[in-house]
Amino acid sequence: MSDYNWCHGPSCHTKETQSRVRGSGDNKVLRTIKIKQGRYNYSGRPEIITYDDYFCGNHCLYDFIREHLPSIIAIAPRREALETPIKVVKEKDTNWRGDPYTRTRITSVDNDNG
Ligand SMILES: [Zn+2]
Repeated sequence: MSDYNWCHGPSCHTKETQSRVRGSGDNKVLRTIKIKQGRYNYSGRPEIITYDDYFCGNHCLYDFIREHLPSIIAIAPRREALETPIKVVKEKDTNWRGDPYTRTRITSVDNDNG
């Protein structure tokens, strides 16, 4: 397995930066950025893959998402809303001036208890 990936940004090879210039004389090109895998992986766990391993920067990541959004959504389409059971608790408190107010606090509900 290669230790490098080519940036997956669809327009990476068109961005005019010195780091992309390759070739000599009249045969110069702008080339897609080559990315060393794990370059920003500070966890010490190489099995964790991040988008940094596939995109040279956020501009290329978002270019990719814009171009392939329908396909990305098709991987895991959401056809209905998800819900998280909660409790909404109203509590009396005082603000920094000592004035009373009612605080609304959202707490999670442990599903294992029924
Ligand atoms: Zn790129």
